[in-house]
Amino acid sequence: MSEFVIEHVRALQVLDSRGDPTVEVSVVTRGGGCGRGIAPAGASRGLREAVELRDGDKRYLGRGVGKAVEAVNKYIAPAITGMSSYRFRDVDRRIIEIDGTPNKSRLGANATTATSLAVVNAAADTAGLPLFEFLGGRLARVLPVPLMNVINGGAHAGNELSFQEFMIAPVGASTFSEALRIAVEVYKTLKELLKRTYGPAAINVGDEGGFAPPMKETREALEALVKAISEAGYRAGEDFLLAVDAAASQFYSGGAYLVDGRRLGGDRLLELYVDLVAEFPVVSIEDPFAEDQPHYFRELKSALRGRALIIGDDLTVTSARLVSEYFSGGAIDGAIIKVNQIGTLTEAEESVELLRRLGGKAIVSHRSGETEDVSIAHIAVAYGTGLIKSGAPARGERTSKYNELLRIEDYLSGDSRYAGAGAFRRS
Ligand code: PEP
Ligand code: MG
Repeated sequence: MSEFVIEHVRALQVLDSRGDPTVEVSVVTRGGGCGRGIAPAGASRGLREAVELRDGDKRYLGRGVGKAVEAVNKYIAPAITGMSSYRFRDVDRRIIEIDGTPNKSRLGANATTATSLAVVNAAADTAGLPLFEFLGGRLARVLPVPLMNVINGGAHAGNELSFQEFMIAPVGASTFSEALRIAVEVYKTLKELLKRTYGPAAINVGDEGGFAPPMKETREALEALVKAISEAGYRAGEDFLLAVDAAASQFYSGGAYLVDGRRLGGDRLLELYVDLVAEFPVVSIEDPFAEDQPHYFRELKSALRGRALIIGDDLTVTSARLVSEYFSGGAIDGAIIKVNQIGTLTEAEESVELLRRLGGKAIVSHRSGETEDVSIAHIAVAYGTGLIKSGAPARGERTSKYNELLRIEDYLSGDSRYAGAGAFRRS
């Protein structure tokens, strides 16, 4: 096993999909295995997320990550060199220990995330296995349903849609590659529909590759999705299900939610969700209320009686403690899993394991500021979550994950299973 020993760790400042600096870490093992990890970055972040370090000086308008790069090269590298990458959870625990804060604020979650992913990628490379198989073994065979954010609003777009993400889930396919094909057909049909209805500027895209049309109302976006699905020759509610990420903390202000040009109290917003689920095939609602209003999550969950999943993101920030608290308290059916919200793969894995044990849903997710790192595609397959969010089927930082899932499907040559509609059912 000496081939897994970490011999070299090096961090570099690179750019993410928004042109913001981010941390890349490369790890080399004694056996010659190489692994790389690049930290993504969120725009709509939970208050309790692990903290990313930014330099705050003149360069890159304060967005530089020189301090986080230094944290890797000066503190993390010497502490983990000589450890076994095979025991990546021990390496993560060592990183957590030297950070010593509850939210990675000393080393920076961008530094710890990139290192954690680089170490496990180096271990997989040393073992001669794809990451999903290194993590999940021979049982990792389920390709996830992509929740594709094809209309962008909120903090990800310069339009007036309050909700951040309007997603299509191609469940009526029998393989991942077929799912990707039919989703692209709907995405392209939606593009033509939006151009026809709102003019050519409507097909400009937001941070996650979805269109950012000049719509004002939530219903308009959902109606456009249903229409595009049908025009493309598919059935909404059967071949495609819908999902939304309201990211409601972003439009909660002064005790009210600013939705569709109105100020709604929590009760009225709850009614809107119940109506939307009755009118459209929406099967998953993420962050329907602000992160400090978990009681409304609970009320909505009981009002919907299983007709749509309630998912925590800003609410749960990939923390096993918060996932456990809100799941057991009846506020959520599952949670978004983002490694950089918590800072290490080991801690993200704890949240996935917990949800699996409790019968909840884990949705492995990208961030709005992404990179060419494809680890999340492997993580979704490794843990058999059945669900992944990686944006629209467009823009390289989004398609890199979908393309990696195509490669995984091809590698498994007929031995894989596409999660399909069952991925949304609570066990
Ligand atoms: C999200 O809220 O689910 C998301 C991916 O956005 P961000 O990365 O901006 O938090
Ligand atoms: Mg979210």
